[in-house]
Amino acid sequence: MTSKQLLQVTEEFQTPTYVYDATKIRKQFNTLKNAFDGLPVKLHYAMKALSNIHILQLLKAEGADLDAVSIEEVFLGLRAGFLPSQIMYTPNCVDFSEIQQAVELGVHINIDNLSILEIFGNTYGDSVPCCIRINPHIMAGGNSHISVGHIDSKFGISIHQVRHIKRITDTFKIQVTGLHMHTGSDIIDAQVFLRGAALLYETAKEFPDLKFLDFGSGFKVGYKKGDIVTNIEQIGKEIADSFRAFCKEYGRDLELWFEPGKYLVSESGHFLVKANVIKQTTSTVFIGVDSGQNHLIRPMFYDAYHQIDNVSNPNGTERLYSVVGYICESDTLGYDRLISEVKEGDVLAIRNAGAYGFSMANNYNSRLRPAEVLVDGKKMKLIRRRETLEDIIRTEIEVG
Ligand SMILES: *Cc1c(COP(=O)(O)O)cnc(C)c1O
Repeated sequence: MTSKQLLQVTEEFQTPTYVYDATKIRKQFNTLKNAFDGLPVKLHYAMKALSNIHILQLLKAEGADLDAVSIEEVFLGLRAGFLPSQIMYTPNCVDFSEIQQAVELGVHINIDNLSILEIFGNTYGDSVPCCIRINPHIMAGGNSHISVGHIDSKFGISIHQVRHIKRITDTFKIQVTGLHMHTGSDIIDAQVFLRGAALLYETAKEFPDLKFLDFGSGFKVGYKKGDIVTNIEQIGKEIADSFRAFCKEYGRDLELWFEPGKYLVSESGHFLVKANVIKQTTSTVFIGVDSGQNHLIRPMFYDAYHQIDNVSNPNGTERLYSVVGYICESDTLGYDRLISEVKEGDVLAIRNAGAYGFSMANNYNSRLRPAEVLVDGKKMKLIRRRETLEDIIRTEIEVG
């Protein structure tokens, strides 16, 4: 989206506001969908990245299914119009009653713990199928920091415990219709990904009733110039080849599932904030904006880099700034950034803010959460109003 369009959004809806570009979301979805050399893949959108119903419905219209990590997300998915059969529920460390609720709703169940698998078998026997989340424990070498389900991870059942999984599934005659692997790491190296896939293929041979293999996510997007990104065309072809070979060996065609979050929505999002103050200190020039880590926590939480541009003055002389928020807490959105000269009142766009932006926002310092706007071609639509003080105090019990 152009600076001019973004400024129009702020004229109509003020700041701070998250803006999402519908065209970009559709493009990402279809690029991924078509990357696997003609194989029919299912993309379950990991809704924790951005869960506004308008985004869910946009992706549903493109043909997406859904990945939910809490029962609340399952409810939001159903409310958005997804069928139970389109929703994969992948919880971690939840009470068994939550899994029972999901079973009653009819969604796919992904189990990531042996004790839960045993209770599941005891409760449902062969009447409810499930998927099992495997932790393959691969660490990539070198300085690439890619890890595929590392040894200390709390997620999944270790690949070394397959014998125990089998004992439980055989005893209770549990129908295992899927195996799952989501490592949380970035897939930028086809070889690392394929090593994980090979382990899942090996494991799959132990389970004769499979309908799908789910490779989770990890598709990486670029946050700044020079970042390595997933070369989706190339890796898609390699995954498709290995998957075809596996299906041949397995004796049946299975479905290939993925659960992208970031890849689908990150780049579509622009977080618009206003420069409240320019503050020159002995060490730097701060831009203090009308937002902070309460609205975009990734820079402080993950040390994430988000490019920041001045959309009010996109072509001025670049100057060096540190961009900080208004929260009483270390609250840096970007250090040592070259940004086109900023005056107080200018609007800044924080890029790549579609994923884990609004969905991780909170009310710290009793600040209101931002509005969300969806831009689709020439149309712009408010899809979440800005909060009011009433929203913050709604759950407090009145002083009586
Ligand atoms: C978070 C999550 C995803 C999505 O990860 P991205 O990096 O946003 O693509 C997929 N699957 C599961 C189980 C997750 O928890």
